[in-house]
Amino acid sequence: MLGTDPLLRSPSGRERSRRQHVWTRIASSVVTVAVAVATLVAGPAAAQAATPVSDPANVQVLVNKQRPLNPLRWVPPDLVWGPNGYLMRSVTSSALARLYAGAAAAGAPLTTVSAYRSYDQQAALFQSYVNQYGLAQAELISARPGHSEHQTGLAVDVGNADGSCGLGSCFGNTAGGRWVAANAWRYGFIVRYPNGYTAVTGYAWEPWHLRYVGPALATDMHQRGIPTMEQYFSTPSRPAFATAADLGAVDRAGVLWSYPGTGRGTIGPRAAVGTGWGAMTSGAVVDWNGDGRFDVIARFTDGSLYLYPGRATPGLGPKVLLGRGWNGYAITPGPWVNGRAASIVARAPDGTMYLYPNVGNRVGARTRIGGGWGSMTTSMVDVDRDGRQDLIAKRADGVMLLYRGNGTGGFVNEPRRVLGGGWTTISSVSVVHGFGGAGSRGLLARAAADGRLYYYPVTGGRLTSRTAVGWGFGPYRLLS
Ligand SMILES: [Zn+2]
Repeated sequence: MLGTDPLLRSPSGRERSRRQHVWTRIASSVVTVAVAVATLVAGPAAAQAATPVSDPANVQVLVNKQRPLNPLRWVPPDLVWGPNGYLMRSVTSSALARLYAGAAAAGAPLTTVSAYRSYDQQAALFQSYVNQYGLAQAELISARPGHSEHQTGLAVDVGNADGSCGLGSCFGNTAGGRWVAANAWRYGFIVRYPNGYTAVTGYAWEPWHLRYVGPALATDMHQRGIPTMEQYFSTPSRPAFATAADLGAVDRAGVLWSYPGTGRGTIGPRAAVGTGWGAMTSGAVVDWNGDGRFDVIARFTDGSLYLYPGRATPGLGPKVLLGRGWNGYAITPGPWVNGRAASIVARAPDGTMYLYPNVGNRVGARTRIGGGWGSMTTSMVDVDRDGRQDLIAKRADGVMLLYRGNGTGGFVNEPRRVLGGGWTTISSVSVVHGFGGAGSRGLLARAAADGRLYYYPVTGGRLTSRTAVGWGFGPYRLLS
């Protein structure tokens, strides 16, 4: 299935092949969040459209106990009679009709239980809860007037068509509740008050309360694994590859994902970096331009090699052509020469090993640094911690050899030490730093047979025992 998250195993299956990226900036006092929607990576400079989430007419408006609607008695201008005869905004109505069709097709027919409520209706409802349960409980399950999502015309309480578990937490365990939890995002909705986030949202779990936020935001929250709007709009902008512990992976739909290393030997929720990577045949995460951010160097099916500069915000900057004719090469970028910017060590199709210096935004004239490498593939890491990068070379017979670098572009002249065997079962190797803790270094290796991902620490000049960190990576192209 396209784009299934190999780590999180999203039950949802298909992802959107085209994706837009949303990021946020939060000003200090007035919480104004500028949301910019841009096509990443290959396109021209991002078009930015500021849409403050304090605007009640914006489908991304953030309303909660701390953030009332402004004005407090706001009434949406485009209320219509939506599915099952409830008032809601027209954009909500059309998306909800599509969602209901999807749910019915999946055997979980849904109906509307509540939708738009005016300020006065909400005032009466809240007061009735206070009378019935007391103020504290009323606050947990209901909103004060002017503070309700229902007043935006973007919120809908849904229920099973057969009426089972209406407005009860048991709805979450019915076919309808499970279906909306897994699929609402496809229609531009989120389950606004998820289970376990009362401290964040202020509300008890409401598996029936759907909020229309639009496809861009719903998809981004889904793909980045951010469960609430509160977290989403206070999440600092994160670079595509923030640390050397992050793993890059391209799925079958051509989406480049970043899997952040947590620093505890595990991987956190992935984030989409951009689309259009379907033709990538080889890629690496490396600080190429020496600005302290991680860039991506990628080769494509036509043999072209590009630099995608990292930046402070999500996504990558406009690509720069580094060269052509790279098909058949095993490309290993990294800080191979001490005191210089990252360069490329590459094994040519005839087994010759070359060093390609970094000349600004280009690759300079190559130098031959070895021969007889056959079809070996290499990973660059300072195995012996002598301050000079080394190559771990994987031979066709699965033996891993250590070629220590001399720091000036060549290799230490010595017999090659065997680091391990049996690596014919490994179909991809990526170098990570800090993945297993501060100062750690190691390899993320994917098993060819089942797509499992393992972490092999490099400790004491050796590869030490591996731990499993993920599965389902079989269909992905992993960046080194
Ligand atoms: Zn509701």
